[in-house]
Amino acid sequence: MRVLMIGGGGREHTLIWKIAQSPLVEKIYCTPGNAGIGALAECESMDVEGALEPMSQFAIDNRIDLTLIGPENPLANGVVDHFESLGLKVFGPSRVAAEIEASKVFSKELMNKYDIPTAKSGTFDDPQEAAAYIREVGVPIVVKADGLAKGKGVIICHELQEALDAVDAIMVQKEFGDAGNRVLVEEYLVGEEASFIAFTDGETIVPMSSSQDHKPIYDGDRGPNTGGMGAYSPAPVVTDEVHDLIMETVMKPTIKGMAAEGRLYKGVLYAGLMIADGKPKVMEFNARCGDPETQAVIPRLKSDIVPVIQACIDGTLNKVKLEWTEGPAVCVVMASGGYPVEYEKGKVISGLEDANAMENVTVFHAGTAKMGDDIVTNGGRVLGVTALGNDIRDAIDTAYEAVKEISFQKAYYRRDIGHRALER
Ligand code: AMP
Repeated sequence: MRVLMIGGGGREHTLIWKIAQSPLVEKIYCTPGNAGIGALAECESMDVEGALEPMSQFAIDNRIDLTLIGPENPLANGVVDHFESLGLKVFGPSRVAAEIEASKVFSKELMNKYDIPTAKSGTFDDPQEAAAYIREVGVPIVVKADGLAKGKGVIICHELQEALDAVDAIMVQKEFGDAGNRVLVEEYLVGEEASFIAFTDGETIVPMSSSQDHKPIYDGDRGPNTGGMGAYSPAPVVTDEVHDLIMETVMKPTIKGMAAEGRLYKGVLYAGLMIADGKPKVMEFNARCGDPETQAVIPRLKSDIVPVIQACIDGTLNKVKLEWTEGPAVCVVMASGGYPVEYEKGKVISGLEDANAMENVTVFHAGTAKMGDDIVTNGGRVLGVTALGNDIRDAIDTAYEAVKEISFQKAYYRRDIGHRALER
């Protein structure tokens, strides 16, 4: 089988690393890919957030049997509908199904309609009405741009002025463009976060092992949010009881609700949850795998992933069972100094081979590129260093030993990935 992956980050490298282990797969292609992916797949530079035709033409020209989509923008642009209309086999939700991520207002309306537990909120297309609601409800409060904003459209506000400024930035200054035509103003939830990611064919739901990421840039979960500075799996907060509650109160009603709305949901559904007193509430849905959760979850999957993906497309997921390693995994993200604000690119990375040669360690590339014989930094988040362990302490120690092997100018990483799991 010839597989095409669309995307070029740590999540896509991890999925390709897993797919490459399948005896069903003969050759892998990736657009645009990165230096790590380049060792496993033939990469083709392409604007995957732009026009859809170059991607489908590439799939036709290279006789691709199966296409996978990593990031949210191509999904929101309807890449799945486009590929299907040409008779190409593709894994992921359609454009109207992907709206569960692409519109926070749609997602909230769905949750309210189908009694899926979530934060109380108001939706506004007028900044003055949003401001009046904020003044009435008070702080802390969360202001969210409706549309896709590269993970930056959620602003947690502890002061009234912050919340009013957030509405102004999103709706008046249009910092995220049309994504800010509407805002969601949401109750601030307390508890412990977890990510719950599942395969689905639109009816059957097969969950992956739970995980948790670390979004803020600094140790102790301080500073601005990033795409994610590390992750671990499983998340101890997701006990068997909590797992069952998530399936019954979140995943099943969501997949049923989407079908009832005429938006049959096939692919990977990600629920970002806040768990308090053993009860989950949804903060967001994503229409794809999480990054960097994937880098911690997928290395724990013992089963071949390709038949699972095929079963999602074919509607036969009820025949699939997944096997996971008992031991946990930890992924530490190494970033360019200055990320998530301003950072430099083109720094030579050394030590990758030594880190990768360590037992139980895999280094996944995110923002990397090949320059001559060197591998250089090419983005904010550069690498995800994943280690499997017998227990969480072991996985954390191994991941940080591997991180120490790797160096590039102004490398930055958090030193406390996995601390919450450890405290438990
Ligand atoms: P989202 O993209 O909606 O998951 O938001 C990004 C991050 O903001 C989440 O991972 C949480 O850390 C935080 N967040 C989002 N919504 C809320 C909420 N209602 N209460 C508290 N924190 C939130």
